[in-house]
Amino acid sequence: MTKPIIGIVGNILVNNGPSFAGYERVYVNNDYVKAVIKSGGVPVILPIIDDEDFIIEQIKRVDGLLITGGGDINPLEYGEEPCEKLGYVLPERDKFDFSVIKIASKLKKPILGICKGLQAINVAFGGTLFQDLSYIDGCYIKHMQDTRPNALSHTVRVVKNTKLYRIFGDKVITNSYHHQAVKDIAPNFKISALSKDGVVEGIENQGEEFIVGVQWHPEMLAANGNLDMLKLFKTFISIADSSL
Ligand code: MN
Repeated sequence: MTKPIIGIVGNILVNNGPSFAGYERVYVNNDYVKAVIKSGGVPVILPIIDDEDFIIEQIKRVDGLLITGGGDINPLEYGEEPCEKLGYVLPERDKFDFSVIKIASKLKKPILGICKGLQAINVAFGGTLFQDLSYIDGCYIKHMQDTRPNALSHTVRVVKNTKLYRIFGDKVITNSYHHQAVKDIAPNFKISALSKDGVVEGIENQGEEFIVGVQWHPEMLAANGNLDMLKLFKTFISIADSSL
């Protein structure tokens, strides 16, 4: 039986040396690979490239698209100047994310965005971000957890009548590794999950297609057997499978 192929957006790692100092490598965190395999998908890494014709060929060959975590999106992409607490920006990754998201959406392939992946979906479709959580009034929860990656950290409330609600019900406990969040939601999207301090933790498109973003890192939990997060991955991958 054919299994669905899940394209996982790669990042660039610059080698610190001593040998090959400054040398660039393509990578993804291994938990993305493990979570996809545990959920029945075949993982392939999509390296960041800049030629649109080649990106189209990359996306044609996958059945679902997983947008991974990473640094911060260049605020110029959503019409803002950089603020003091903006973190590391890799502009070529931003461009690649926006391209793959728009192409996959056009080709009706399901998209799951994780952490920066959620933020990339929001900006790709016209939304904006808070450059740091300290710029949000009333944000009191520690969203950059100081424990192991597969430890659960804070509560997420899920909005009724959303794709995430069908997976999790009205709440789910997650890990948390972000210092930014959604400010204005993109047109034709809705907020599907929030932490108790009102920070956006999930977004999705309003139509039937599966374009879902979560602000936490489900792959770190799914790779270690967390049943809620395996359900999220299995839902995404079964939709990729149904298009085969
Ligand atoms: Mn959080």
